[in-house]
Amino acid sequence: MNVSLTSPASAGSVPREPGDRRGTNTAFSCCVCAERNAERPFPRRLPWLVRCRTCGTQSVWPQPTEAELECIYDKDYFKMFGQDEADCGGYRALQRVRAEHLLRRVTGDAAPGRLLDVGCGLGELLFAAARRGWSVFGVDRNPWAVAAIDRRLRGGAVCATVEQFLEQRVHAGLFDLIVCYDVLEHLRRPLDVLRGLGELLSRSGRVVVTTVDCRSLPARLMRTYWHHYHRDHLWYFHRTALRRLAERAGLDVACCTHAWKPFHLNYVLSIFAATLSRSVVGRAAERIRRTLPEWIRTRPFVLGDGLFLVATRKGGERCEGRP
Ligand SMILES: [Zn+2]
Repeated sequence: MNVSLTSPASAGSVPREPGDRRGTNTAFSCCVCAERNAERPFPRRLPWLVRCRTCGTQSVWPQPTEAELECIYDKDYFKMFGQDEADCGGYRALQRVRAEHLLRRVTGDAAPGRLLDVGCGLGELLFAAARRGWSVFGVDRNPWAVAAIDRRLRGGAVCATVEQFLEQRVHAGLFDLIVCYDVLEHLRRPLDVLRGLGELLSRSGRVVVTTVDCRSLPARLMRTYWHHYHRDHLWYFHRTALRRLAERAGLDVACCTHAWKPFHLNYVLSIFAATLSRSVVGRAAERIRRTLPEWIRTRPFVLGDGLFLVATRKGGERCEGRP
């Protein structure tokens, strides 16, 4: 697909945002309901987590600075999920399973068109869609990930934040399918991004959003040990909040439901080991991870702690949500 934007080599500097340093001078504002009244649900274990008292959306507050986020999204970012060069941890294999799982659900028998994957990571969804005949394009802020994609799919991805990509305003109405796979929770301003993505949709286009569900059974059972609580997740939605956010962004929601998502033990234990490295739980997770045979560590299973939303532009052609 012929899309010109910042090349992976030249992208790197992300504009800083005034008033966003450590957040002490920035009052909390919920991205779903715009209310400012929040509480800290787990002040001892997760003092950086707040919950909107009005709609229950959760957030990291104060949010990390842009400089801190740049440090997070580097070559080592995917190690937190068990990725390694030789893929002994099965990270890429898991991403391939997830990509196929999502594409089966979303595309069905639809004719291939133009697909945009925002926050495309290592590009497994792009590769899977391209094999199915889609014309694909990806955006990711991680220069290492984009360079890795470029080696397999030249020109298939660009290094930029989603916000920078949207600021280009050159792709309006271009895409038949936009995938925002576990990305919304990483964004500082998810409402603005959803609004911008809606403008990129063709008349019959759909945007598919998956994200983590802070009211799911695993989240409620695991509480502060829920494996999605890490500080690069800036927002945590539940089903009602996600639908409301999409509607506020001017989208017609065709479907918003709970979602099962493939995981494997190596992925989950790696997160525990990385985020709880100073605690007994984190050290135990790492010991178990190293002890388990590879076929057990990397065997996929599904966990129902996600959300799945399909939406179209306002006034666009109706679509079935394929829940
Ligand atoms: Zn709220």
